[in-house]
Amino acid sequence: MANYDVIIIGAGPGGYVSAIRCAQLGLKTAIVEGRDTLGGTCLNVGCIPSKALLHASHMLHEAEHNFGAMGLKGKSPSVDWKQMLAYKDDTIGQNTKGVEFLMKKNKIDVIKGWATIPAAGNVQVNDDVHETKNIIIASGSEPASLPGVEVDEKIVVTSTGALELGKIPKKMVVIGAGVIGLELGSVYARLGSEVTVVEFLDAITPGMDAEVQRSFQNLLTKQGLKFIMGAAVQKTEANKTKAKVHYKLRKDDSEHVIEADTVLVATGRKPFTNGLGLDTLGIEMSPRGQIKVGADWQSNVPGIYAIGDVIDGPMLAHKAEDEGLAAAEQIAGKHGHVNYSVIPGVIYTHPEVANVGETEETLKEQGRNYKVGKFSFMGNGRAKAVFAGEGFVKILADKDTDRILGAHIIGPAAGDLIHEVCVAMEFGASAEDLAMTCHAHPTYSEAVREAALACGDGAIHA
Ligand SMILES: Cc1cc2nc3c(=O)[nH]c(=O)nc-3n(C[C@H](O)[C@H](O)[C@H](O)COP(=O)(O)OP(=O)(O)OC[C@H]3O[C@@H](n4cnc5c(N)ncnc54)[C@H](O)[C@@H]3O)c2cc1C
Repeated sequence: MANYDVIIIGAGPGGYVSAIRCAQLGLKTAIVEGRDTLGGTCLNVGCIPSKALLHASHMLHEAEHNFGAMGLKGKSPSVDWKQMLAYKDDTIGQNTKGVEFLMKKNKIDVIKGWATIPAAGNVQVNDDVHETKNIIIASGSEPASLPGVEVDEKIVVTSTGALELGKIPKKMVVIGAGVIGLELGSVYARLGSEVTVVEFLDAITPGMDAEVQRSFQNLLTKQGLKFIMGAAVQKTEANKTKAKVHYKLRKDDSEHVIEADTVLVATGRKPFTNGLGLDTLGIEMSPRGQIKVGADWQSNVPGIYAIGDVIDGPMLAHKAEDEGLAAAEQIAGKHGHVNYSVIPGVIYTHPEVANVGETEETLKEQGRNYKVGKFSFMGNGRAKAVFAGEGFVKILADKDTDRILGAHIIGPAAGDLIHEVCVAMEFGASAEDLAMTCHAHPTYSEAVREAALACGDGAIHA
């Protein structure tokens, strides 16, 4: 049996990125994956396929709504759903094959099968027990269930089923107004489904800046999504073609039923640790089923580390990747580090929504003295030229020091624009630093500069 320095369990963005860094640092590395293809949730049934469908459906939306105004006449394209799914699958294939290539290139052994940890220093896959100095658990997450709601992945689906529906539903109910529900809800709304989102809370996308939540909900409503807020789903009843969703309004306890061809359950995800044997090992877990780790991503059992969705923190691919890099560096005796206060979050709807750092609400809770610089994309020439004048950039900075504390963007390319604020925050920059930086014209990024100017003497095009 081979002896390894590190065996990583799970080849999602946390695991495969960690494996590459381990190999780069001279550690003999293997990665175990139970799925047929590498890439984890993100590449197979998450980030990548959802973005492919968001892109295709956005193209349709542009053709239907904006082509005419630009003098592009003719019939709007019709939807060939099978071909759209094939394009999505091809995108997945290109990405998962890319990860296979990277494993080969970095001389990482790929072991296919489901891993168990019989003892620290051992990883068992089928009948083979592999010896290793260190183990990194990167086993990810799975959709959380909801009492009374039985998922069949045909009529009542999780995000996994929603990425490969047999046909585009006439009516879709999305349970949960979080990122996944709104992204996939947007896809089907653009493809012609009547989409109703049922949400327990009174605001969408919990944890986001409240002003962005309101503006985002208004924009999605304009795009045709319906929202039932403050509604507690009691149960679903499904037959072969339809489902009923029973819910109670929290404000008056009144009971209601809504019917749909497809119900998407998007109420969050939970850590996936089935079959690893963590109980026997005595690994400490949080009440939410996450593996508890210290500042070096090591669990209470020496030599067993954990990263990504299976530990605390936002369930995001780039957070998993950063932890993967840092854990590898710790194992190699370096000083791996993740700055958890500068992890961006992006929603890839149209317009995109992106955030980093504090919200006005968290700053108020902390009793911080802050100022707000805001700029609307209506004042951005490039955005207006491409029918993307809706939305704004909002920068929060310390009132006394001018240091940037957070940023919230709703608008074109928000998911890319947020990164100039992330870099600024990593360098401890002030809003004035951003405002003094020359930004090319005409770019969307000028809106970020204008918001930074608005933290000082004022935006120019407001
Ligand atoms: C629909 C959807 C859209 C998303 N969009 C985004 C997005 O746009 N941006 C973003 O940042 N995040 C997005 N996410 C979240 C993102 O996919 C996760 O945060 C990310 O995949 C976590 O990475 P990970 O490496 O921790 O785990 P995963 O990607 O979940 O990978 C874990 C892997 O471990 C394997 N595994 C588990 N147990 C074992 C075992 N015992 N033996 C062998 N293998 C095992 C699993 O098969 C899996 O392949 C999305 C998620 C979904 C569902």
